[in-house]
Amino acid sequence: MSGAPDPEPEFTFELRVCRWAEQHWEPRRPDSRVLVARQLGVKRRRWDTIVLECDPAGLERRSLFGTERLNSDLRHVVQHAPREWTYYRDALPDPGYPWRYVREAVHDAAARGVVEERKDGRRIELRRKWRYPEWVRRVVAIENKPDLDASAARVLGDQLERDVALSLADEVWVAARTTGRSVEPALLERLPVEVGILAFPGPDEGRAPEVAWHPNSLDSAAPGTRILERPDGGAHDQSAARFEYADPEWKREKRLGIAERAYERGWRSYVDTMRPDCRHFELRDPVGPLPWCAAKGCHPTDRECSGSCPDFSPEPPAWRTRGWPIEGGPGKGVKALLDRQRQRRRE
Ligand code: SF4
Repeated sequence: MSGAPDPEPEFTFELRVCRWAEQHWEPRRPDSRVLVARQLGVKRRRWDTIVLECDPAGLERRSLFGTERLNSDLRHVVQHAPREWTYYRDALPDPGYPWRYVREAVHDAAARGVVEERKDGRRIELRRKWRYPEWVRRVVAIENKPDLDASAARVLGDQLERDVALSLADEVWVAARTTGRSVEPALLERLPVEVGILAFPGPDEGRAPEVAWHPNSLDSAAPGTRILERPDGGAHDQSAARFEYADPEWKREKRLGIAERAYERGWRSYVDTMRPDCRHFELRDPVGPLPWCAAKGCHPTDRECSGSCPDFSPEPPAWRTRGWPIEGGPGKGVKALLDRQRQRRRE
């Protein structure tokens, strides 16, 4: 066992926020189902935690399309697939890129079993199996900053201003760990007023997080503003800020892309990049669950718990054959447990 490690690295804090959101998030519409994922976004911006507030009936219909995400090519097909057999070029809107790529997407969609496809002579026809539902009501982004000091707040403030201007999410929050009862007012001043602040107690304090600042809802259906460049604010800086507009259709498409990836991955997919097949790997809190390293006596980060870990020790082959403690040995058992929990959230 090594000495006292960092009490809670950012990675573990992030998992704790995800677990809390999954169990306690209060959606805007009380009948919404909540799905939580982590580390998703668009090219220039990735959010730490994503909370989807979903229409329950829509979510159920979405499950007909399987647990894998539908990428934008597949969505183009399923969203426009007609009720009756139709030549694919007549059924689908002009994509703005060569039709041969659409034809490939139709083949892929049929292979995935999410549309039907047939040949009429040389023509490829398709028809839908189910209508792709409106299943996402709201997208909430949470930035996790366990150690939010003044300088971190300054850097984060700039990033959050961009999030607010683009308004790709319906709501943006910062989750910060607090040592006292509240977040320092000076930190609040450095963050945009539209952004909510969740004050998380330390991992052993046993208190529920508190809302230190309520967010404003953002207009995700309106055009957004992308801030490309801004003056650094120095005394001699006379440069102008540069912006570009993000149209609502682009935003709609990106939100759905994020939601589809969140649907596929959830937040427990962290285990895919760790070593649950190491004999020291445990799940310390089966409700969470959070990874625990018995060798180091800490919650390991995904970077630590990798193939390059000097303490990695493969689970003995005997564990795989005696059905311990779950069929397939601990590594496989951990993955199966997390997969089952991931699936339950989608149902
Ligand atoms: S790989 Fe390293 S960090 Fe991960 S459980 Fe094994 S010893 Fe611990």
